[in-house]
Amino acid sequence: MKKYDVVIIGGGTSGCACAYTCAKNNLKTLLVEKNNYLGGLMTGGLVTPIMKSSVGDLNTDYYKKLIETAKKYNAQFSYTINNDKTTTNDGWLNPELNKIILEDILTSDDVKDSLDILFETDIKEVIKKDSLIKSLILEFDILSLPIDSTYFVDATGNGKLSYLSKCNFLNDNEVLQQNSLRFVVSNVDIERFTKFVLDADNDRNITNTCRNDLNNELMFTTASTNSTDTTWALDKYLKKGVEAAILKEFDRTYFQIFSIAGAKGQVSFNCPRIGNYKQDPAKQSLEIIEGKKAIYRLFSFVTAEFPGFENAIITSISTQTGYREQRRLNTRYIYKKEDLIQGKSFPNPVLRANYGIDIHSNSFNKSTESIVQSAYELPIESLMSADIDNLFVTGKLVGAEFSAHSALRVQKSCMSMGEGVAKYILNNFSTGS
Ligand SMILES: Cc1cc2nc3c(=O)[nH]c(=O)nc-3n(C[C@H](O)[C@H](O)[C@H](O)COP(=O)(O)OP(=O)(O)OC[C@H]3O[C@@H](n4cnc5c(N)ncnc54)[C@H](O)[C@@H]3O)c2cc1C
Repeated sequence: MKKYDVVIIGGGTSGCACAYTCAKNNLKTLLVEKNNYLGGLMTGGLVTPIMKSSVGDLNTDYYKKLIETAKKYNAQFSYTINNDKTTTNDGWLNPELNKIILEDILTSDDVKDSLDILFETDIKEVIKKDSLIKSLILEFDILSLPIDSTYFVDATGNGKLSYLSKCNFLNDNEVLQQNSLRFVVSNVDIERFTKFVLDADNDRNITNTCRNDLNNELMFTTASTNSTDTTWALDKYLKKGVEAAILKEFDRTYFQIFSIAGAKGQVSFNCPRIGNYKQDPAKQSLEIIEGKKAIYRLFSFVTAEFPGFENAIITSISTQTGYREQRRLNTRYIYKKEDLIQGKSFPNPVLRANYGIDIHSNSFNKSTESIVQSAYELPIESLMSADIDNLFVTGKLVGAEFSAHSALRVQKSCMSMGEGVAKYILNNFSTGS
């Protein structure tokens, strides 16, 4: 049986950060991913902008490596809101190129002697002894692969490793986060569309534009939602789309688009929303089918109504459904909303951030709730299983109350968690504790 120091299940946003950091520090590491590419929601889910969240330099080495590597592929953009240099976000990435970039990073000289990657592999069985996982039986096609390890990390987002290990999960959902099925449209005349949207958005509070200093390319973001706290400049056009029966009323609930780094004329849609039926696979599948229909409606609408979209084509639909929250593990410390709001510090933090509470609720007149606060920290104990001594989680599986989770789940924070878990494991190894 092959033996590792650390096995990470899930090669997505947080799993890659964890694997890179473990292997870079010479821990014998295995990264297991069920798809044939890395990145999870960053790539397969087409989540293109990494929200600017970090306010301190805590576990950001992997993030910096990602940005530095993406720059070499011309797949990164530093977005500066209204040319205010204090709000630059260097985390606008290209989702397709990111598949290549992540493989470049995870096979680089930094890690290649310590890291094995298994694609198209899933977990079949967990073998436990008392409160420890001893080994896993993995499944590649029809092959069963027994794997032994000292530590295990569940970075699946859906908690499959923890579930098979019979761990407990949190169940305090105030509402169910709405999911999304993102898609990408190409062949857009961004100059024309941006002029149109800036003219429509008189006070410019929804739309932001920025030019790439290197090639003068125009980048933008704009949105329209159903919440009544803001005047959404594009809403009158969406209403017109409903009147013309191109759109359904529900399509107005959340509409958001971003241009994409290193992809001239491409636009990423953070919509349509689809429902959340965690306990009902048949209903969830119908939602995914309805999501594709909504994509076609939105596409038909933008090509008919928005200058610059006349010759647009749909070029990708996310292959990983945009589930904002699936399971949250019962961890040694359950992170609280109050910890976040009060900006609490902890003795062993893995993450320092200031991204606010962001719940995509299913109520029609409210889209997200965002509390702006000072920096908060997340302790390592919120990533340690309360049930299994050698099991950690990273990313959106974090053991946090529902509303605190909605802040912690952004990509940069997920990467800090992955890196923080790796460093904690490393310290345990070196001290032998
Ligand atoms: C629609 C949507 C929009 C978002 N927008 C933003 C945004 O603009 N900015 C931002 O910063 N954040 C955004 N987020 C949040 C952020 O993208 C996610 O919370 C974060 O990427 C989750 O990272 P993760 O590592 O937990 O999961 P993932 O990135 O999903 O990684 C999980 C990985 O595990 C793999 N896996 C699952 N099960 C198994 C198994 N059994 N065996 C092997 N592998 C398995 C999956 O294939 C995947 O690669 C958004 C999220 C959604 C859903």
